[in-house]
Amino acid sequence: MSRSPAPSSPSLPPPLGERSLASWWGRARSNWRRPRALLWGALVVLLLVAQTLLVALTLRYEEARAQERSDEVAAAALGEIRRRSQVVLQGLQGLQHRPGEPHAWRRNAEALLAELREIGRIERRDASLKILESAESPFREPLFMRWPRASMDPDIAQACGVARRAMSPMFSHSQFVPLSDGLGVEVLDLCVPIQETGQLIGFTVVSIVMPLLLDELRVVELGRSHELSIVEADGTRLARSGAVRGGGVFIADRIVDLPGTTLQLRVDAVQRAPSLIPNLATALVLGLSIGLFAVVLLLARDWRRRALAEGLLAEALVFRKAMEDSLLTGLRARDHDGRIVYVNPAFCNMVGYSAEELQHARSPPYWPPEWAAEYQRRQAARQAPGVAAEPPHEGYETVFLRRNGERFPVVIYEAPLVDGNGRHTGWMSTVLDLSVQRRAEDLSRQQQERLQATARLASAGEMASLLSHELNQPLSAIASYATGSLNLIDAPGRAASTQTHPTGDEALSTQLRYAFVRIAEQAERAGRVIKSVHDFVRRRHQAHEVIAADLLIESILPLVRLQARKSGARVELDILQPAPRVKVDRTMVEQVLLNLARNAVQAMDGCTPLADRMLTLRVRLVSGAQGRWVVFSVIDAGPGIAAEVASRLFTPFFTTKDEGMGLGLSLCRTVVEQHGGAMDFDNLPAKSGQAGPAGTEFRFTLPLSLPRGPTRVSPIESA
Ligand code: ADP
Repeated sequence: MSRSPAPSSPSLPPPLGERSLASWWGRARSNWRRPRALLWGALVVLLLVAQTLLVALTLRYEEARAQERSDEVAAAALGEIRRRSQVVLQGLQGLQHRPGEPHAWRRNAEALLAELREIGRIERRDASLKILESAESPFREPLFMRWPRASMDPDIAQACGVARRAMSPMFSHSQFVPLSDGLGVEVLDLCVPIQETGQLIGFTVVSIVMPLLLDELRVVELGRSHELSIVEADGTRLARSGAVRGGGVFIADRIVDLPGTTLQLRVDAVQRAPSLIPNLATALVLGLSIGLFAVVLLLARDWRRRALAEGLLAEALVFRKAMEDSLLTGLRARDHDGRIVYVNPAFCNMVGYSAEELQHARSPPYWPPEWAAEYQRRQAARQAPGVAAEPPHEGYETVFLRRNGERFPVVIYEAPLVDGNGRHTGWMSTVLDLSVQRRAEDLSRQQQERLQATARLASAGEMASLLSHELNQPLSAIASYATGSLNLIDAPGRAASTQTHPTGDEALSTQLRYAFVRIAEQAERAGRVIKSVHDFVRRRHQAHEVIAADLLIESILPLVRLQARKSGARVELDILQPAPRVKVDRTMVEQVLLNLARNAVQAMDGCTPLADRMLTLRVRLVSGAQGRWVVFSVIDAGPGIAAEVASRLFTPFFTTKDEGMGLGLSLCRTVVEQHGGAMDFDNLPAKSGQAGPAGTEFRFTLPLSLPRGPTRVSPIESA
């Protein structure tokens, strides 16, 4: 069996595979649930590891950056100390004692002290290290107010001894010098040998106050973000500078090699180990990580919803597919160019082509070749711009061709195909195969015709006996008139009398004329009787025609009268005037009336007193919920219908008569119902003094056919 094609147009329904999508979806869902959970777990773990690493690396980077800055500051400070000691040394170069100028040294020394703040004291000593002159820094109290200068002599002696030998400036070890404020400072002495004509004549000893030296260094970060200090090898701090305290984490130590001594310079960053939150970069990374997690969570939720929606969609598709496959009605979708984009299995079965063969066809193989051009033209007309998108609701009939060459009628209902965005993308057609229905209709019609023919023949047989009775009268009249005429002509003495009485000829011819006229009349009457029966039996055309009710009655009246006269019944007409019109198959309705009239006459025959035998044909008009109806009644004065007969009255072949066929009433009801009407009957109420019913009324209704002009309202209707 062919399957639905895969539509190419994106706006048309997606194709469905061969296997059951629902069971596939169920299997796939359970198969994937565990691996998917693992995948999600792995994703979360990976994200956690990645985020932790990221944070750790960021912190590490921050630490490295802080340490780097401390190192840079330390290097800069070291360079500054070297530069500053050069400046001090250069200043000391110009500090010469000239014997001719006793105050010059002091003046120069004080100028130098005013210029270089880190120098606390300058001494001029002779070659035996005896202090000849000294000058104190103007910026602070004299260094050796509370502490004897002599206490430092051994260190100075050692430094100057080395300076003497090397003939170059030399530093002593640093010394702590208490001050009057209870605090103290670390002081470093620099011994500079003084030569004259190659001979050592003394020393200049400069006391450098180490905290001030550190304060004088021009390094930008110092004092703001880093603490600078001089420490000993064991970490004891000798001097420090800056208003801030180091954090003790990012420390950079540098060895300061000075002639004669070595100092350890320490730069300590104020910044401590970067903590997690206040750190901007870390906060950023953390924020991003949290954002990332939130996105993952949202994605997971979105995925879950999407999976749910996909499941529902798959189920809906499967349901739709099952529905389409089980349909017995053909479905066909075409795009705006008339190309087939979808057909269901029922359609494929109908035409005998597979979906693949039909897909994209603009002139499909199920169009009969002789109609193809016409269908193409109709299709083009439908696609023409400006044509209304709404097709006719009642559908249209056409002819298709099966693969085996058989042509069959179909009725097509078309509807615009509208996609999810409300765009009109093509046409959806529902195709019904009418061939089975047509065959059934043909069969039914044939059976109907056969039934009618049988009934007519039965009626005709009956008519024949009636005819023999009816024709008997005119024929015997004709025979009598003919015999009389012959007798008149052959009468003896007629010749003599005609010779003697010329008026006798005239009298004879008058009598003969009278007889011939009667003969002609009776012959014509017999001819009419025969013609009416002939007309009835021969009339076969089926077309519906609009006819007034009185005309219908009139056309059967001769035959009804024939029947009635035989049993001595009178016929009465009670027809509404103006007579209402009905659209009927005239022959069939006449047949109904004839049958009912015949039954009525037969019912009265024998059991109803001759005087009471009355057959009434009545026509009335009634209004009901479903419109207006013409009611035909055939009323007799017979014995009525017993209950056991009534229940089987319309059953085919039910009869109470010896020679009856039992088809009349069932045929009548079929005919009436085919015309949209209904048939029933009633026993007439008993007359006073009588036991049984006063007769029977058979009624049937037919829809009123309204004239095209303004509606006329009959007196009965308006009542
Ligand atoms: P048939 O006339 O061949 O018997 P019908 O179907 O016309 O077949 O009638 C079935 C039966 O209904 C008749 O045999 C008769 O018993 C009963 N019947 C029909 N019309 C009347 C009537 N007007 N009065 C009484 N009985 C009737």
